[in-house]
Amino acid sequence: GARSIWQVSRVPIDERFSLIELVNRTAEADISRAHTDFVANASHELRTPLSSIIGYVETLADPEAKVPPAMAAKFHTTVLREARRLQTLVEDLMSLSRIEAEKHEFPREKIDLGQMAQTIGGEVGFTVGEERILVETEPALVQPTLVQGDRQQLDQLIRNLIDNALKYGDPVAPVTVRLHTEGRDAVLEVIDRGEGIHPDHLPYLTRRFYRSDPGRSRAAGGTGLGLAIVKHIVERHRGKLDISSTLGHGSTVTVRLPLVTAPAP
Ligand code: ADP
Repeated sequence: GARSIWQVSRVPIDERFSLIELVNRTAEADISRAHTDFVANASHELRTPLSSIIGYVETLADPEAKVPPAMAAKFHTTVLREARRLQTLVEDLMSLSRIEAEKHEFPREKIDLGQMAQTIGGEVGFTVGEERILVETEPALVQPTLVQGDRQQLDQLIRNLIDNALKYGDPVAPVTVRLHTEGRDAVLEVIDRGEGIHPDHLPYLTRRFYRSDPGRSRAAGGTGLGLAIVKHIVERHRGKLDISSTLGHGSTVTVRLPLVTAPAP
């Protein structure tokens, strides 16, 4: 307010500069700490599968070890699984940095979100081999739901959310992808009937490498980056991300994206 401006202006000029510098330095320290944490976490996540790959391959290559064929086959499977984990991790890290680099460029492609969700739902449902995925759209919504976006990133966003719903949802209950419009927004919801997320975890889920249950996430092949990627994609599209959950009932992730507005007549 006016009062604080007046107070600052009463500070001698030299000290005023050091005040500004202090504010800047504190902000820089925060960014720098977040960066250090991120590098440390990423290194740890990369090192774990790498150590395991080296260990198994060393044993397999050691003539003294005389690994029996059945066990060797198991080792190969583990090496492949860990190598795939590394690959996913590197791909997710690259996605994150690409999205971040583009964060100030508003994407200009016109995307039909309904059609995209339908296509992905169909593909993933097919891969799962059951009719688990339903893409529901509001009945009134017959015309395409156009948003301005980056096709590849919106595809990734929908896939990540469906992927989580499948990973953490009830294995026999369907996952629902719903789409409707609200004012000037397209509202996409991915709903699962899993065990839900404890409220204590909710605020942190979009942080890089944050997992409410690390063992379960890793066992399901999770990198802990999926929702961080989703958050960055939503921000780049000037949208809004909301995660709500009821323990024992399931979770709903809601993404709001601005609709392409009709040109003035
Ligand atoms: P991960 O690769 O671990 O799935 P994400 O960034 O996609 O990483 O999600 C972060 C964490 O949020 C997950 O580890 C999990 O604990 C929690 N989570 C995400 N989606 C769901 C969901 N649909 N139901 C329950 N927990 C979820």
